[in-house]
Amino acid sequence: MASASFDVIVIGGGPGGYVAAIRASQLGLKTAVVDRDRLGGICLNWGCIPTKALLKNAELIDHINHGAEWGISVDNLKLDFKKIIGRSRRVSDKMSSGIDFLMKKNKIVSISGTAKIVGRNKVRVEARDGKKDYEAKNIVVATGARPRSIPGVEIDHASVITSKEAMNLDAAPKSLVVIGAGAIGIEFAYFYAVLGTKVTVLEAQDTILPVEDREISAVVQKSLKHRGVDIRTGVFVEGVKKSKGEAEITFKKGKDGKPETIRGEKCLMAVGVQGNVENLGLEDVGVAIDRNHIKVDKDYRTNVPGIYAIGDVIGPPWLAHVASAEGEHAAEVIAGGKPHAIDYSNIPGCTYCQPQVASVGLTEDKLKADGKKEGQDYKVGRFPFRASGKAVAGGAADGMVKIVFGAKYGEILGAHIVGSEAAEMIAELGLAKSLEATAEDIRHTVHAHPTLSEAMMEAAGAADGLAIHI
Ligand code: NAD
Repeated sequence: MASASFDVIVIGGGPGGYVAAIRASQLGLKTAVVDRDRLGGICLNWGCIPTKALLKNAELIDHINHGAEWGISVDNLKLDFKKIIGRSRRVSDKMSSGIDFLMKKNKIVSISGTAKIVGRNKVRVEARDGKKDYEAKNIVVATGARPRSIPGVEIDHASVITSKEAMNLDAAPKSLVVIGAGAIGIEFAYFYAVLGTKVTVLEAQDTILPVEDREISAVVQKSLKHRGVDIRTGVFVEGVKKSKGEAEITFKKGKDGKPETIRGEKCLMAVGVQGNVENLGLEDVGVAIDRNHIKVDKDYRTNVPGIYAIGDVIGPPWLAHVASAEGEHAAEVIAGGKPHAIDYSNIPGCTYCQPQVASVGLTEDKLKADGKKEGQDYKVGRFPFRASGKAVAGGAADGMVKIVFGAKYGEILGAHIVGSEAAEMIAELGLAKSLEATAEDIRHTVHAHPTLSEAMMEAAGAADGLAIHI
């Protein structure tokens, strides 16, 4: 067992781990990153990036299907599903190779294999050619999370699948039952509905995308229904079994409803994730774990000196950009810096169906429930994209911007967008929120015309009865 020593060994090369490694190296620390798979983690290989490639396909197909309205008629439209998937896989490969390049550029040692912490400062990596021990002054655990299932339901990766299989099928299924209407469920429901699959969505909460503002998720729900997606909310899936090569799903409307069944060629389990905390040696060195997630302080230190944890493995919000921000923070702390704490009230969340959904901060529901308790009065500004010239010209009149401001000072409490480029637009409101911009500041910021972004300026105006185009 040869040994090499590092200032930092990062376990897991996803958007948390590789970013932590780059920052550590930039700050002069001798750094290694260990991963048993390709660098880039779920995000680059089996999540954010390949799904964005697929969703772009869906958008394109959607445009072509509505081409006649635009004076563009296409006869005999043919879809080559294998090519659609192939392009998505190539995009992932390309981006993952980009991370290999970044590791080299930053002089980070990339170690391929499965890592285990075998001492406070020791990491053992098992690879095809044997085991090697490495010394590390600091260890950053960034092992991410994996899809969870409903108790008693086995994901067989054939009929009952996760997002990983859903983005790499041989053919589009004739029917798909999606369990869970979070970001993953809704993105795949949209994708396969556009491809012609009969999609059913089963969601326990009373709205789809339940973390989003109700008015916003209602727009997506209406749009998906219009596409023929059968959406059942307020239903609890109790069991899934395999029958004649298909999945048979049992669910109840409410707790006391009578059991119903539905069948699908495929059943996508999209009910959330759980941290990858197993087989890392965490218990052996005494790292505290709480319900599948590693416990950390505000600087991502675990209870064991020299061991840090970041990203999905420490729990919600399970988002790539959060993992990256935590990775940078942890690396700066290890290098002796005192970075500002991450503001978890200002994390954007996006769902890339069409219309897209993006939000930051509190929903109006949350404010009604909690804010009132704290005496927080608020005002709401809305602007529909149907009143935006750019949106109508671009065939993107669906949706709106809704911003919730504090009534007294006009600060942003929450911002919610549903519409064609929502995920791009939300950055403006995130920045505005972090700079404590008010409704008045946003209204007075001259936005280029014509742009979709004008809707944010108008929504800010609307909060004070000063919108121009509504
Ligand atoms: P999620 O937690 O966002 O949604 C899961 C949904 O399943 C919930 O709405 C829940 O009410 C429902 N559910 C749970 N048990 C159920 C049952 N028995 N019957 C019916 N419904 C049930 O999880 P996800 O969509 O799997 O995504 C996992 C994580 O990854 C999330 O944190 C998500 O934000 C993140 N993610 C983000 C993006 C993005 O930013 N575009 C994309 C993918 C994933």
